Amino acid sequence: ARAQASLPVVVYASRTHSQLSQVQRELGRAGFKVRSAVLSSRAQTCLNPAVKTLPQSTAGRVCRGLMQKRACRHYLGVDPYLKAEPEAGLAVRDLEELVRLGTQRTLCPFVLSRQLATDADVLFVPYNYLIEPAKRRSLSVPWERAVLVFDEAHNLESACSDAASFDLPAATLGAAVEELGTAAELALLRDEGGQGSQKKEDKSAAETSAELRQAQIILRKLEQAIAELDVPKTGRTEPGAFLFQLFAKVRLTPETWPLLASAFETALDVLTQNASEAGRSSGSRSSSYRLHAVSDALSLAFETCPPPGEGGDSRDSSAASPSAHLGYRVHVHLEQSRSQGFPLPTLSFWCFAPGQALKALQQLSVRSVLLTSGTLSPLGSFAAELGLPFRHRLENPHVIDPSQVWVGVVPRGPTGAALNSSFLTRDSPEYRRDLGAAVVNFARIVPDGMLVFFASYGLLTSAVEAWQASPAGGESVWDRIARHKSPIVEPRDAALFGQAVADFKAKLDAPGSKGAVLFAVCR
Ligand code: SF4
Repeated sequence: ARAQASLPVVVYASRTHSQLSQVQRELGRAGFKVRSAVLSSRAQTCLNPAVKTLPQSTAGRVCRGLMQKRACRHYLGVDPYLKAEPEAGLAVRDLEELVRLGTQRTLCPFVLSRQLATDADVLFVPYNYLIEPAKRRSLSVPWERAVLVFDEAHNLESACSDAASFDLPAATLGAAVEELGTAAELALLRDEGGQGSQKKEDKSAAETSAELRQAQIILRKLEQAIAELDVPKTGRTEPGAFLFQLFAKVRLTPETWPLLASAFETALDVLTQNASEAGRSSGSRSSSYRLHAVSDALSLAFETCPPPGEGGDSRDSSAASPSAHLGYRVHVHLEQSRSQGFPLPTLSFWCFAPGQALKALQQLSVRSVLLTSGTLSPLGSFAAELGLPFRHRLENPHVIDPSQVWVGVVPRGPTGAALNSSFLTRDSPEYRRDLGAAVVNFARIVPDGMLVFFASYGLLTSAVEAWQASPAGGESVWDRIARHKSPIVEPRDAALFGQAVADFKAKLDAPGSKGAVLFAVCR
């Protein structure tokens, strides 16, 4: 338990671990005595050679099995380490340092970080630990004392929408149906072989197999219901509640979903156990199961249903749209199947209300939510998108004064050619020539540095090649640009980009420089 039960717990979320590392470094430098931990996936931290190469979904199951049997030496190394180093949480370690420690001391960084997290005052996590319901549930955070900080919050809207959306192709659903059938057969076979370890809650093998067959029937009916939808070539878009009306047709409701989810779990246990045994005897590797994807998608869909009695009657999923689905759209489109030779439907459930994820945090009664970023302005529309009342807002004026900015569109070049780089016109000599001539004119009047961005590397290359070609006996566009600015072109190899930027700066700062122009791709 945390030593000071009344103090807030800070959960610091950012998009990537490299961003978290920077903040952790600053915390380390600040010299505060706080317990901290950083969380990440098994894929980034597992040190067991037999597990770390497995697909993530399978690795989780195999790892849990090994921990249960106390058969992973890295797992066994954690408790003795924590006994020997009770103040381990006071050292601020980023992900890389944690993995290095695990390698040196033969202990599992994944398990260690979770142990340290139970006692941490500051927890560093990637966004998805706060915005994905399943990941959030895995955190042992006293939410009512939690101060959540979202760094680089301009990424938050898209991260929330992505985390709350799914695409379910027919092929995935079909493969999951097959996997359930295989699991049902294996459940019986394993019992005949006297292993019976697939039994859950003391169910007989026949009962387990029947449960899996029942789940297979529901999934097959869902597959058929989607296939029978009338889908035009352009796709079909429906309100979010349509998904639950479709589910209700196959008796898949918020009430039946937990039973189906449990059957999926059982099937995955059976399949994983069978694959790991087959792997041991034949050297083959277990694969990732489509059932995971289907389970995740359905689980995500039902996460959007309000609890019974709140915002809609979940007992009748075909009823009016529950409020939580208002920000969602169902889209079904056909995609040509290579294996089947005809188009198959993909069912998508897309979230257009990124605020849903943050509302879930609000419902946990968290103490504070802080969103920080250098590029959130204007705050009004951002707050409206997220649907949360931000009582305190701090918005600094931009470092660039309006008098320093001019924004304009230049529709035509010096000889009147349209500066339109659409597919139809971008290869025309008139367009390229006038674009080059416009750059020459800007290079003439713009002081110091100039950045010229293209929509793609292909466009950049073709323009530069055309400008470098000399007209018979005359000066090329490239030479004319170079008369006013030293030109630098972004290299295609990303590893050389830093060198190109350094080159640009050096040419700008060179004594007697007329300036430099960098031609690059806009990303
Ligand atoms: S306990 Fe750690 S090292 Fe062992 S399998 Fe699980 S994640 Fe990997």
